[in-house]
Amino acid sequence: MMMVAVLGGAAIVGCAGQRPVLLDDASAVDAGIGMATTTETRKPAPFEIDEPVIAPGEMLASDDNPLVDVGSGDGTGSGIFPARGGVKAVVTPTGVVVPVLGQSESGYVVESPCGIETEITWGQPLPSVRVVLDPGHGGTEQGAVAEPGRTEAELNLRVARRTALALQDREISVALTRTGDYRVPVLQRARLADALEADALLSIHHNTPRAAPSVRPGTEVYVQGTSAESQRLGGLVYEEVMAALSQFDVDWVSRSDAGVVTVIDDNGEDAFGINRHPETVTALVELAYLANPAEAALFETDEYLDAVAAAMADGIERYLTTQDPGSGYVDIPRIFNPSDETGGVEGCLAPALE
Ligand SMILES: [Zn+2]
Repeated sequence: MMMVAVLGGAAIVGCAGQRPVLLDDASAVDAGIGMATTTETRKPAPFEIDEPVIAPGEMLASDDNPLVDVGSGDGTGSGIFPARGGVKAVVTPTGVVVPVLGQSESGYVVESPCGIETEITWGQPLPSVRVVLDPGHGGTEQGAVAEPGRTEAELNLRVARRTALALQDREISVALTRTGDYRVPVLQRARLADALEADALLSIHHNTPRAAPSVRPGTEVYVQGTSAESQRLGGLVYEEVMAALSQFDVDWVSRSDAGVVTVIDDNGEDAFGINRHPETVTALVELAYLANPAEAALFETDEYLDAVAAAMADGIERYLTTQDPGSGYVDIPRIFNPSDETGGVEGCLAPALE
C-alpha cells in the first residue's frame, strides 16, 4: 500500500495535494519506498496501492475513524527528543502520512494534517524520499466536480497512486501528501515534502473552468517564478503528459495560453500556495479538464490512468536523471489573485491518526 498527502488548491484553477503509500516492511522495501526497518509492531495499512479507487467519504468520520476538530488537538510540548534513525515522517496506523517533530517516551510527536502537534504511539517510519506526490483537494474541498459526480479530489488521488506505483517500479522512492478523502491544508503539504527532503514535489489536479474547444489537450503546469529547476520540472512533466494525452481521440478544451506558466498575484508572488510555501522544488499540473464531459469520460478509463501515470513518472525521472530542458514554456506570467483562501487551516478536520 502507499500513502501520499495533498495540499489545498486554488479557487479556480485548481489546488495541490499528495499522500504516501503504506506497505508492510518487506513490500515497502521491494517497492522502493525506502521505509526504514524497526522493531515496532505493525498493523495492516488501510489502503491498498493496487486498489486505486477510494470511495468519497471513505476517510470521513465513522465509529472507527472519527474526525478530530482542529481545536482539540492533543498538543504536547515537553519530553520531546530528536527522532531516532533519521525518521522524517511516519505513516500512521490509519494510513495518514505526517511529519515527525520528535520522539517522546511513548511514541512519535507529529504534526497532524491540520497542523496540530500531537502524539501517536507508533507509525511506519519514512526516511527521506526523492519524490512527493500531492493529490489536490480532499475532505471538504473536493475541487472540480464532473457530471454525474466524480470529484476531482478522488480522481487526483487515483492518478497519484498510479504515478507512485510507476515511480516505485523505477526504484524512485515516493510518498503521498494525502492517502484518503480528508483535508490537508497547503502549508502542511509543503511541510511534509520539506520534512522528507524530497528532490521534487508534484501536485496533481484536473482543471475546473470552461475553456474553448481545442485540437490539443489543455494541460497546464504552474511553476515557481524564481526557480529554474521548478520550471524545468514543469517543462518535462508538461512535455511527457502532452505526448501521452495527444494519443487519445477526444474533443479537448484548452486556454489559448496553456503551457508551463508562472502564476503570480498583484504582489508578484506565486499565486498558489503549493508553489509559494515549500523549499522543495515544486510544480502543479492541471492534467486536463474535468469540467469537459468528453474528457471526464476519458478519465474513467484505465488507459487514461496508466498513460498519465507513466507520463508523469517519465517526466519526473528525466528531471532527476538528466539536464533535459523540457518544453511548453509560456513567457508571459499569468496574473491571478485568489479570492478566498482555500487550502488553509481554518475549519480543518483531521482524520484519526491511529
Ligand atoms: Zn484542483
